[in-house]
Amino acid sequence: MLTPSPLAIVPFVSVDNMMRLVHATGIERFLTELAAYIEEDFRRWELFDKTPRIASHSHDGVIELMPTSDGALYGFKYVNGHPKNMRSGRQTVTAFGVLADVGSGYPMLLTEMTLLTALRTAATSAFAAKLLAPPGAHTMAIIGNGAQSEFQAIAFRALLGITSLRLYDIDPRASEKCRGNLAALGFDITVAGSAEEAVEGAQIVTTVTADKQNATILSSNMVGPGIHINAVGGDCPGKTELHRDILLRADIFVEFPPQTRIEGEIQQLDADHPVTELWQVLTGHAPGRTARDQVTLFDSVGFAVEDFSALRYVRDRLVETGLFTELDLLADPDDPRDLFGMLQRSAASAA
Ligand code: NAD
Repeated sequence: MLTPSPLAIVPFVSVDNMMRLVHATGIERFLTELAAYIEEDFRRWELFDKTPRIASHSHDGVIELMPTSDGALYGFKYVNGHPKNMRSGRQTVTAFGVLADVGSGYPMLLTEMTLLTALRTAATSAFAAKLLAPPGAHTMAIIGNGAQSEFQAIAFRALLGITSLRLYDIDPRASEKCRGNLAALGFDITVAGSAEEAVEGAQIVTTVTADKQNATILSSNMVGPGIHINAVGGDCPGKTELHRDILLRADIFVEFPPQTRIEGEIQQLDADHPVTELWQVLTGHAPGRTARDQVTLFDSVGFAVEDFSALRYVRDRLVETGLFTELDLLADPDDPRDLFGMLQRSAASAA
C-alpha cells in the first residue's frame, strides 16, 4: 500500500472523539466557548457568503446542504430532518460537516455534526436569548423533550444562569428521560401535564418539538407580557410551532431572513412583515429588547454561519486535544498531473 502524503491527510472527528472532546472540555465550557465563536462570526456577518440552505424535501423529511465562506475558510454541513425516524429507533436530525481552505480548496476537517448540531443550536439559542430575554430570567419552559432538549437547558444555564426548568412533551417518557438526564446537574425541574402548565411562571419558553405539520404548540393566550420565546422546532416549509397571533404580537428576530421566510415561523406572515436580524442587534445597528412587557421571539431555523463557527471551534481544539483520526481522503500523487500513474503504481505495490 502507498503511504498518503501529509497534504492528503484530513483530520476526522468521529462521534466517539466528539464525545471525548465535550467531556475533556466540560459541556458548559464547550457551549460557552462555542457561543463566543458564533458571536465572533455574527459580528462579521456582512463578509460571509450567504444563501438559504439547499433543501431536498420528501414526504417524510428533508435533506439539506448548508454552505458558507468567510473568504479564507469554506464550510458546509449535510443535515436531515425526519420526525418519523424516532419511531424506528433513528435520530430525527443527523449531520456531518467539512471545513476547507479557500486558497487550495483542500478540506481541513471532516467531522460528525449530530452532536455538534445539538451543541451549536443550543449555543445559538442562548446567545440570542442573552440579547433578547428579560434581565434576571431564571425559569425556562421546554416544550418538546427530545434529542435537543438537554443541550438547550445546559446552554441556558451556562450563558444566562437559568436554574429552573418546566418540561412538557406529548410523550411523558421523553420528559422523564430529560428530567433523568438533567437531575444530577442541579436544575430545579418540574414536569408539567400540558404546555399551558409548562409556561406558567417561565420568563423564557423554548419550543423544540418535531412534527411535519403546522402545529400549534403555543397559542397567544399562553404567552404573557415580557416573555422571550426561543422557537427552535419549526424549521421547514409547512412545519411550524406557534399560532400566527403570537407572531403578530411579538418582535421577531431571525438569523438570515431569506432562509427564515421559507422555513421559520414567519412563513405564516406576509413576506414584508418586519423582522430584525440578530447580527444587527449584536452590533448595535438595531434594538433588541426595549421594554419589560415586550414579547421577543427568536425564530430559529439554524443557519450555515453557526455550523461554520462550530467547525472552526472544533478545528481549533484538535492540536491541543489530539481527539481525531487521520483520514486518507484525498488522492494526491507526487506529480499532481500523474493521477493515473499513482493508480498504476498502487496495483503494482498490491501485487
Ligand atoms: P426529537 O424527535 O428527538 O424530539 C422531538 C420531541 O417533540 C419528541 O419527544 C416528541 O414527542 C415531541 N413532540 C412532538 N409534538 C409535540 C407536541 N405537540 N407537544 C409537545 N411535544 C411534542 O427531535 P429533536 O432532535 O429534539 O429536534 C426537535 C426539533 O428541532 C426538530 O423539528 C428539528 O428539526 C428542530 N431542530 C432545529 C434546529 C435549529 O437550528 N433551529 C436544530 C436542530 C433541530
